[in-house]
Amino acid sequence: MERLAGLACGRIRLPGGWAGDTTVRFSPDGRIEAVEPGLDPALPRADGPVIPGMPNLHSHAFQRAMAGLAERAGPAEDSFWTWRDTMYGFVRRLTPEDAQAIAALLYSEMLTQGYTAVAEFHYLHHAPDGTPYADRAEMATRIIAAADTAGIGLTLLPVLYAHGGFGGQPPADGQRRFLNTPGGLRAILDAAARAMAGRTGWRTGLALHSLRAVTADEMAAALDGLPPGTPVHIHIAEQTAEVDACVAWSGRRPVEWLLDHAPVSPDWCLVHATHMTADETAAVARCGAVAGLCPTTEANLGDGLFPAPAFLAHGGRFGIGSDSHISVSPTEDLRLLEYGQRLAARQRNVLRQPGEASIGAGLYRTALAGGTQALGRPGTPGIAAGQPADLVILNPDDPRLMGRDGDALLDAHVFAGSGHGVRGVVAAGCVVVRDGRHVRHGAIVAAYRRALERLRG
Ligand code: ZN
Repeated sequence: MERLAGLACGRIRLPGGWAGDTTVRFSPDGRIEAVEPGLDPALPRADGPVIPGMPNLHSHAFQRAMAGLAERAGPAEDSFWTWRDTMYGFVRRLTPEDAQAIAALLYSEMLTQGYTAVAEFHYLHHAPDGTPYADRAEMATRIIAAADTAGIGLTLLPVLYAHGGFGGQPPADGQRRFLNTPGGLRAILDAAARAMAGRTGWRTGLALHSLRAVTADEMAAALDGLPPGTPVHIHIAEQTAEVDACVAWSGRRPVEWLLDHAPVSPDWCLVHATHMTADETAAVARCGAVAGLCPTTEANLGDGLFPAPAFLAHGGRFGIGSDSHISVSPTEDLRLLEYGQRLAARQRNVLRQPGEASIGAGLYRTALAGGTQALGRPGTPGIAAGQPADLVILNPDDPRLMGRDGDALLDAHVFAGSGHGVRGVVAAGCVVVRDGRHVRHGAIVAAYRRALERLRG
């Protein structure tokens, strides 16, 4: 992949707003070194308006290959839980090679859509019968290799998954590949951290699958000794059945229980957090954790609507993720986030950010900040010195974007359907997408096709 020393930008969205002629210089390891006024003629010129790349804060990469396979009505009412059965059936056949090929394809798709980094919530750890691979981090290493191939920034979150329901219930058969003790998980984390060393913006964190899958003691053991600033992600309150089961077990709702029993802080990302009371909503906002919203997956699974207006009114932070990857598009997820609220409130322009009239630009900026926080990337989010050089070049020849300037460009990019809005992408200083196509598209798709053939055979 071609590594750039910088980019000369005629129009660019900086943290303080839009700017004209600007030079962004990159360090040899792919960070932004300086942002300076004027165009350096020695650097390549961006052939369109430049916006910061979006972090994708929630991904289960292997699920991309089953997108669309669970859209057939079953004999009874379908739900998240029937979708999960389809997923378990799919997981049974997946080899490490398959997982790597699927993840590489997914990450290349993310990049072409303008996601430049991903938090991989990685719980597919073991062989199909549940035995750890000879290298416990085999599957984590496959994710790392896939991110390398695609050139996307990676926050790898090995997941602690130990039980099949609240209160330490035994796991089901379909969950065998996911199971670990806190000690087993720590071994995977350490091996992954070694394998990832030296890459700009990459890091590990920890995920707790959900309160269904870990007990209070296991959670405490997993968190013990974790350095401050380490991202901690957890699925929480996605389904009403999950809330009911949590209340039956503990007398508390999932978010209530979590806030009472865990040191939830700005290092944490609460994925979904769909079903919260007004008090829970305010408390999550106050503690500074990021709400990890995945609107297209939540819609696909029939989860419910996140209480976004109340959460934002309390100063809550959010980012977006593509989760099951039924869709892989930051603009589609941001659009659906706003549209869900419009349909519920029967109003327009609901998720208005303080001091920002433009809904598309406000959603983009807020999700960028929340995603950067959730991926454990300190510093000013976006195109700022010290951050990985993750830049998206919009396509000025896309009719949807023609004649648009400033935040109106972002409004059109987010809301005006899904066209070919992204022309080029630079991730950690390397050109990964050119003319709307991933630079390794051919090889990545060929490997994916081979994996699908194996899976079908
Ligand atoms: Zn998830």
